[in-house]
Parts: sequence; C-alpha cells; structure tokens
Amino acid sequence: YKPNNPGNKIKLDANESIYKMPEAVKRDIISWLENEENLHIYPDTDSTILREALADFWNNGGLPLAPENIICGVGSDQIIDYITKALLDCGDRILTIEPTFSMYSLAAALNHGQIARLETPASSGFYCEPDVIIEAAHANRAKILFICTPNNPTGHDVKPEDIIKITGSVDAMVVVDEAYAEFSGATMLGAFDRFDNLIIMRTFSKAWGLAGLRVGYAVARPEIIRALEIVKAPFNLSTFTQLAAVSALRHADIYKDRVRELKQLREQLLNGLSSAAGITVYNSTANFVFAESHRDLAAELARHGILVRGFGSRKTEASGGEIFSVRISVGTKEQNEEIIRILKETGGL
Ligand code: PMP
Repeated sequence: YKPNNPGNKIKLDANESIYKMPEAVKRDIISWLENEENLHIYPDTDSTILREALADFWNNGGLPLAPENIICGVGSDQIIDYITKALLDCGDRILTIEPTFSMYSLAAALNHGQIARLETPASSGFYCEPDVIIEAAHANRAKILFICTPNNPTGHDVKPEDIIKITGSVDAMVVVDEAYAEFSGATMLGAFDRFDNLIIMRTFSKAWGLAGLRVGYAVARPEIIRALEIVKAPFNLSTFTQLAAVSALRHADIYKDRVRELKQLREQLLNGLSSAAGITVYNSTANFVFAESHRDLAAELARHGILVRGFGSRKTEASGGEIFSVRISVGTKEQNEEIIRILKETGGL
C-alpha cells in the first residue's frame, strides 16, 4: 500500500479530517504530560482504559457494549490484519465487493489467503442485491466477507437490513468496516451481539481526526474478540495514543458539531461537481465523493497543487472512450470552492 507523498498545497486524497485536534484535547494531553506522565514504562497492552471509555461512550448512546466486546488496533488497518491472521488458513478465501478498500485483499494476501472479488457496476450506483452477495459467499466458500459502509471509494452505503440478511445467511465471518459511519449516521453496532459471525470495525482516523495517532477498534461477541487477541501484538497502542483517544471521547460534542458541518461541506462539493460539465458524481454518505469523467480530473487538480485520489481509467465501448475515476475528500469551504472553480474552468464552463 503506497500512500501519496503530500508535497502539494491542498491534500484531499486520504479522507482525513479537515479539523485540527481540539484545544480541549490538547489541554488534557499537556496536563497529563505535566502531572502524571508515565512514558518510561510500557503501555497497558490491553488498552483497558480506552476500551472502558469506548464501552461508556456507546452505553451512553444506548448500546450494551462491554470492554470484552472491544479490541483496539494501531488504526483499523491493524484490526484488518488481525482478522485475516486469526481466521485464514493457507489458501482460505475472502470475498470483497468491488470497488472497495484495498487493504482487505492486501491483508488477506499477506496472511496466505486467496481473494474472490464480486464486481458491482457504477450503473447501479454500486448497489448489490444481498442475494447476489450471499450466493457469491457460498460459491467461493468465503471464510471472511468484507462489507465497507459507507464504502471507500464510492461513498455509497449498504443498508443495515441488507447486512443483517447477509450475515444470517452466510457461513463467512462478516466484517463490517464502519470507518466513515459517523458521516452516514447508520451503524450495525446495535446488532453486534445477535450473530456469532459479525465483526464491526471503527476508527478514530476520520470523524475523530486522529489519523496521525493511529487508533481503531473492533466490536464483536467476546469469543470473537478473544480469538483476535491471540494474534494481537503486545503493547500495540502507545500510552500517549490511548490517552488522546480517551480524551477525544470525553469531548465528543466537539466531534458531533464537526460531523454536522462536514456534511454541509459534502453537499457543497457534491452540488458543485454535479454542475460542472462532463462529470458524473455519485451520491455520498461519507467525507469524500466519487466522480467519473472522460477528463482526468486528478491530473487537472494536481496541476493546481490539489492532491486527490485518482484510480486511473477504464475503456468504455458505449461512448468509445476512456473513463477516469477519482475520489475527492471533502475539504473546507474555500478548498471545495477552489476545486469546483478549477474543474468548471478546465471543462469550459
Ligand atoms: N477502512 C477504510 C474503509 C478506510 O478507508 C481506511 C483508511 N483509509 C481504513 C479502514 C483504515 O483506517 P485507519 O487504519 O486509519 O483506522
């Protein structure tokens, strides 16, 4: 996995938060450093205080989560690695619903697994009937099925009722990646205890703006969490990281306001892009938007110092040309305006 090199003016290629760490969280960290810093000893390998804080956070939201239902990782990337490591024997297959986040197949390959890919067409808005997914899971004897909702890179979401139907019908472990769920408002967390084949992943890297600290977690029944703990690296989260995440949870109201504002900015970007010539933009429930065009939008924006995630092009027979696809993280109001202005000018509007 090769991230971009951020030498550019505006970095909107990795769906990071546009907001800096809140002052209140900074103050908590500084006060801890001044008064009770204990960085000379190893961190709590089980991230106990963070898991308790997460359970409290979700209990306040009405969900009966306990620390035994949670495992923390160095980003949810590490959780994906733990899941594939714990569940795959040599040659076992995972199923992904494409296009989707590339780390699932990368982690599976690194852990001796095989990958089956179910392709979904753009013409259907990337929607896939649950029965088609169930059939593909059976046909491939998939050990793990990854469902990303909202999906990276397309921004569409998978309805909780579809996921429930799928989870109840497949033999695979269903891993629901909710990295962007704060922006859609939908979650499977309410059903975590209903199934013995369901894992839900969350992260502090997106809505919570802590991508630089690397914190993610998974929620599942205790026996599943115990299976993941077997492959967990000791001392994976630093003391500093655990503390910062606990502090962020304490200031959850700040993040709720930020998510509300981000959703308005998403509408601004979606509306602006839809009114530019020659661009098909897909609806998004995340903090990024997915667009297609005969123009190479990523290259056009790069020429103006704006870094977005381009996925190259594919040939189309219908229109006899190439279609480029691109994922653009929602930026600040000014950044979105600049993107829309550039793409309208280049498109000749
Ligand atoms: N899942 C999805 C769908 C993502 O897009 C990302 C980050 N790009 C991750 C997981 C990993 O996030 P992190 O490791 O920062 O928690």
